[in-house]
Amino acid sequence: MHGVNHTVSYWEYLGEYAPRREEYLDAVDRVFSSGRLVLGREVAEFEQGLAGYCGAAFAVGVNSGTDAILLALKALGIGGGDEVITVSNTAVPTVAAIRASGATPVFVDVEEDTYLMDASLVEAAVTPRTRCLLPVHLCGQMADMVPLREIAGRRGLRVVEDCAQACGATYRGQRAGSFGDAGAFSFYPTKVLGAYGDAGAMTTSDPELAARIRRLRFYGIEQGYHAEEEGFNSRLDEVQAAILNLKLPRIEAAASARRDIARIYDEGLAGVGDLGLPFVGGERRHQYYLYTVRTRRRDRLMEFLTGEGIQTKINYPHPVHLMRGYSTLGYRAGDLPVTERLARTILSLPIYPELPQSHAERVVEAVRRFFREGR
Ligand SMILES: *Cc1c(COP(=O)(O)O)cnc(C)c1O
Repeated sequence: MHGVNHTVSYWEYLGEYAPRREEYLDAVDRVFSSGRLVLGREVAEFEQGLAGYCGAAFAVGVNSGTDAILLALKALGIGGGDEVITVSNTAVPTVAAIRASGATPVFVDVEEDTYLMDASLVEAAVTPRTRCLLPVHLCGQMADMVPLREIAGRRGLRVVEDCAQACGATYRGQRAGSFGDAGAFSFYPTKVLGAYGDAGAMTTSDPELAARIRRLRFYGIEQGYHAEEEGFNSRLDEVQAAILNLKLPRIEAAASARRDIARIYDEGLAGVGDLGLPFVGGERRHQYYLYTVRTRRRDRLMEFLTGEGIQTKINYPHPVHLMRGYSTLGYRAGDLPVTERLARTILSLPIYPELPQSHAERVVEAVRRFFREGR
């Protein structure tokens, strides 16, 4: 039908890089010429910018989103013997970070239509060892923070938000990373706010927590090569911070471009076959890090789209609780039925700010044809 098919990419950054190459290279040169390569002026500026953007008092740059979660838990004094309630329907690093802190992840199931932590299941998972709720704002949409924060308040629990996929998402006008005791962000290149390498940060409005995370990211040292406590090396380097400083002011425009793509999908795919579209919960603004649909014919749809030159991905094909690496946590198939069903039915369509609208329209046309022809 299309003759020679040009690939519809799932994600690529070169469309963003090409027109801004000089700007990026100038930023890198500025860092290289500054005499300061790690934890310098660019990092300080980015921390201030991110905190302001998220509506938190402080941000602390670290070297990945995984470390942001780990250091937030450590700084809150959470570790061995403690339980952290989270979801299995997430990227592995959420769980890896909890395990690295020494704590035990306890999984609750998710809502079928938002893919997010089901707040109605949380209370039953609380035990005397529970210390923290760790909801994941998956796909770019915030978990239902109002009931979650209410439960945490009533049960004396901390809240760490995994904001890795949701920088700039809001709930009742308030941004991700400003609801919990701490918010953990990843600036891995594909994310809503992406560096050109690894980077992360945590936000908080608690000055003591911010100070402790600053210390933990630098071997536990505050000054004079003297460790106040056992720490880590998790610094953010100046080059990545300089790139993030260029990109942070553009995040709203980038998210709005993502929402334009999402609207093409929402309108073009409504009521098609058994396709379930991402549901946006009340009073929330979705950043569309991912546009994830669900259908019982997922595998065939994916294969069909591949044949049409359209790249798609499954985020994620294996729930963490059923992965070999986490078998010691003792979960079995059937423990989290919604999470397990989603792993079999979800498919993420191409979405990134520079994706041409014509590509999104091609995706819509191909998906509709798949269901119309009953493949
Ligand atoms: C990307 C991601 C992380 C980890 O971030 P890194 O920077 O890759 O360490 C954590 N949680 C979620 C939900 C993510 O998508």
